[in-house]
Amino acid sequence: MRLLPYGTGFGGVAVGVSCKGKFSLDAGVPVKEDKVILSHAHLDHTRYSPGKRVYATLPTLALSRILLTDAKSLDPSLPWTIQELQKSLTKAVYKPYEVSFELEGATITFFNASHILGSSLIKIECDNKELLYTGDLGTSSFLLDHWHNNVPKAENLIIEGSYLCEDRPSAKKEWSKLYMFLKKNLGSGPVLIATNAVGKAQEVLKFLINYKDSLPLNHIVLEGMAVDATKVYDDMLEYLSRSEVISWLNGSRKKLMDFVVVPKTLGERKNLARPGTVVVAPSGSLSGGMSVWWVLKGIRYVTMGHLFEPASKLLEGERVEIEDPLGNKGVVRGPDLHLKISRHASRQELFHFISKSGANRVFLFHGDKACLRSVAKEYGFEILEDGREVEL
Ligand SMILES: [Zn+2]
Ligand SMILES: [Zn+2]
Repeated sequence: MRLLPYGTGFGGVAVGVSCKGKFSLDAGVPVKEDKVILSHAHLDHTRYSPGKRVYATLPTLALSRILLTDAKSLDPSLPWTIQELQKSLTKAVYKPYEVSFELEGATITFFNASHILGSSLIKIECDNKELLYTGDLGTSSFLLDHWHNNVPKAENLIIEGSYLCEDRPSAKKEWSKLYMFLKKNLGSGPVLIATNAVGKAQEVLKFLINYKDSLPLNHIVLEGMAVDATKVYDDMLEYLSRSEVISWLNGSRKKLMDFVVVPKTLGERKNLARPGTVVVAPSGSLSGGMSVWWVLKGIRYVTMGHLFEPASKLLEGERVEIEDPLGNKGVVRGPDLHLKISRHASRQELFHFISKSGANRVFLFHGDKACLRSVAKEYGFEILEDGREVEL
């Protein structure tokens, strides 16, 4: 088995695999192969997949349709058309977790990666070699089962390293900070939680639903792309945690969408801008979307996880001009609260995963290059580099 890494950084990832035939793992950057296996729907893994024959779980396909359609509207120069996206989805091959299938002489199996709905670890067996590819490795979740009881074994492992050199506080501690903040502030005005549309927004919703009775919470407002993504979470029960499935079997399951208000007009939004309202809106970095409209209204706001501009600058204490989708502009201050909440495995979880996989060759990718180099040196791992082929 040979690997040809096309993209290994934060911007976009893709790794070509040559077995008897060829295919690519993810397509966050352009790839030569015409068959692509997607680990999950986030754009840094899917941006160049339209026009290819795609293999993925069903939620990955549904969520990637939402994200790719939006990406094309923001960047018409992407080298594919909406018709090609539709065609890729129509012809896509979807497979559940832990049911193997054959592709180009290789046996492929998806396993739950706990990152976002439908996210997969991809195991490839070919020429008597085994390779496990993590895509983005997830962490504890209110909605998804954790991978820790089900790490597949493989002699070769490609693992992401987003948090390999960063210790972040426990998720429990960060969520309790949000709880205290809402308890203190919701009574005097609305609060915005600016977040990514796919993955984090649904975790925030589940958190709010779990604690709504002990908070002064009257309305949860959901905005933009997070609405479509939340409907996919609601529809794909089989990919949610076992406790969600059991509550459905018991007849007590409520969907996330049952708890939210989706405003259609500015008038409705103005009405909802009052104490007791929590708004969950993308984008998480205030680069666009209705989160910007709410921040420009001057309400208290919370950010979370890794931020890009302009929110990253606001976090550093700069005052920055932001623009909402209606063209309103304004200079704003930083968030009232920033939480270090991520959908990526922590440093400790990454090491735990490596040891459970039993791999004797470990390749790091999708992280800060200097960090990956220092960890590789210390532990005898290797690094995937763009354009440098690896023979397994
Ligand atoms: Zn991701
Ligand atoms: Zn990623």
